[in-house]
Amino acid sequence: IIKFDHVNKYYGKLHALKDINLEIEEGQVVTIIGSSGSGKSTLIRTINGLEPIQSGKLEVTGYDLADKKTDINKIRKNVGMVFQHFNLYQNKTVLENIMLAPRIVLHRDETENRQEAEKLLEMVGLSDKGDRYPKQLSGGQQQRVAIARSLAMKPKVILFDEPTSALDPEMIQDVLDVMKKVAESGITMLVVTHEMGFAREVSDRVIFFNQGEVLEDSNDPEAFFEHPKSERAQEFLSKII
Ligand code: ATP
Ligand code: MG
Repeated sequence: IIKFDHVNKYYGKLHALKDINLEIEEGQVVTIIGSSGSGKSTLIRTINGLEPIQSGKLEVTGYDLADKKTDINKIRKNVGMVFQHFNLYQNKTVLENIMLAPRIVLHRDETENRQEAEKLLEMVGLSDKGDRYPKQLSGGQQQRVAIARSLAMKPKVILFDEPTSALDPEMIQDVLDVMKKVAESGITMLVVTHEMGFAREVSDRVIFFNQGEVLEDSNDPEAFFEHPKSERAQEFLSKII
């Protein structure tokens, strides 16, 4: 569903993604780990066109992102994104946050849109918060709304960039529980995270990123955490766990 083929990305002179070759299968739950500045955010931001690439081919849900003729909006309809800082619309209620894009972009029928939104709110455990405004919710609750909002578009792929990094420790688990439910729904998921428990227990695949390169790519997270092959990964894991 996603295919990086010799992808390179530069920020000026900085070579942020170095000859990336990766294929993500439909339904896979992939975690991306690695130290700060290694290029994890850059990697996932290229997938919905937030960061342009300079060379190579990048295919996402059947569209070639490197092709100037590709309509980026078609890709963005298929690819949802959840950020570290939630990015909810502050002046809209929780329900409105969830219903806005389906109404404007998909022209979803209003009754159906509301039913979908209520169903998603229930899924994230916030049925009673539909009429609240984001600032009336805790960080963990806001992040769960952001996940529901992303799912409302029925994307084929959902990207998470450190979704729990801005949260107080006691709120992290609720968000991880929701992410686990999303993973079990069969959607393709890419998650940049420092939550090694999630990487190990929920994901199908772990990618260890280092200095703009894929250093390890394992379809057996358990094995990766037990026996990382590279010294860099061993060092990284010994610091983080
Ligand atoms: P972190 O764990 O801190 O979020 P990361 O692995 O997500 O790090 P990136 O944010 O992808 O790393 O950054 C990769 C490299 O590109 C870093 O050296 C960073 O300083 C640089 N970089 C990122 N965004 C930009 C930008 N907009 N302009 C210039 N350089 C950038
Ligand atoms: Mg990052």
